[in-house]
Amino acid sequence: QAKHQGKSSYAHFTPEMSEVSHERLQMESRLRRALELKEFELYFQPIVDTASGKLRAAEALLRWNNPVMGMVMPDRFIPLAEETGLIISIGEWVLEQACSAASGWKEQTGLDIGISVNVSPRQFRDPGFISAVARALSNNNLAPERLELEITERLLLDNSIETAQILKELDRKKVRLSVDDFGTGYSALSYLKSYPFDSLKIDRTFINDVLKEPEDASLVRAIINMAHSLELTVVAEGVESEPQTRFLKKEGCDYSQGYFYSRPLPAEEFSEWLRTNHRTPN
Ligand code: C2E
Ligand code: MG
Ligand code: MG
Ligand code: MG
Repeated sequence: QAKHQGKSSYAHFTPEMSEVSHERLQMESRLRRALELKEFELYFQPIVDTASGKLRAAEALLRWNNPVMGMVMPDRFIPLAEETGLIISIGEWVLEQACSAASGWKEQTGLDIGISVNVSPRQFRDPGFISAVARALSNNNLAPERLELEITERLLLDNSIETAQILKELDRKKVRLSVDDFGTGYSALSYLKSYPFDSLKIDRTFINDVLKEPEDASLVRAIINMAHSLELTVVAEGVESEPQTRFLKKEGCDYSQGYFYSRPLPAEEFSEWLRTNHRTPN
């Protein structure tokens, strides 16, 4: 009898638990159909030169518009997409749309505006990843230097030869590589000298309290100096106020991104933002 096997054998089958897994299954089956039903949408958030305020690039941020669930944010479905492997086809769609948008901005403004795309570990390690990147670039006639792939430190923790080889191959193709959420991944810093990264994105939790917490200010300063001595550019994430921009300017942070400049915008509104802001890359 289950009773004699202790509490844990019951704990697995509470009604609450089956509700949770039912919800998960339901979400999974909706996610499976989301691509063909065209429920995904890319939003774009400006990344500006901290000193001049001029536009440098945009980060593509995925949204899922589901008729039942409404707009679902990536933190709610990317992990599920990873677990199920759906991230591979979703990620290809994102790459294609992002490159298409960037080449559209070039036509619209004549300017070379970069596009940053988030890549999750399973997608990165997929054997078809490098050719998916190459295809998105050539389909949209986009120079590889315009595309930046954002990878989190988490992905580097395994320290595998495979990871190193993929990074090297992408670098050889002249795609830019950045470390996203830098400072939160508990990773040894030594990877920075052996992998071909171009930039670091300082996690927004550090930027958040940069004016209130002297420790955060010290960390941000140290990250900027370290990055520069390794010839990496630095992007501050989550910049929300003018005093924060003043701090980042003073410390020489190359680029900034956050609500202070703009929230992530749907494609149409981002084009509008381009038209009205007249901000040009240097
Ligand atoms: P991330 O790459 O670190 O993206 C930055 C997140 O910070 C975005 O959240 C953005 O909306 C938010 N953000 C930007 N400025 C500010 C600000 O000033 N204040 C605050 N509080 N937040 C700000 P979002 O769009 O919800 O995306 C969350 C995460 O989901 C991303 O974090 C990224 O890791 C992942 N993600 C988004 N799109 C994709 C995608 O296409 N593929 C993959 N694999 N992951 C994605
Ligand atoms: Mg990112
Ligand atoms: Mg490089
Ligand atoms: Mg980030």
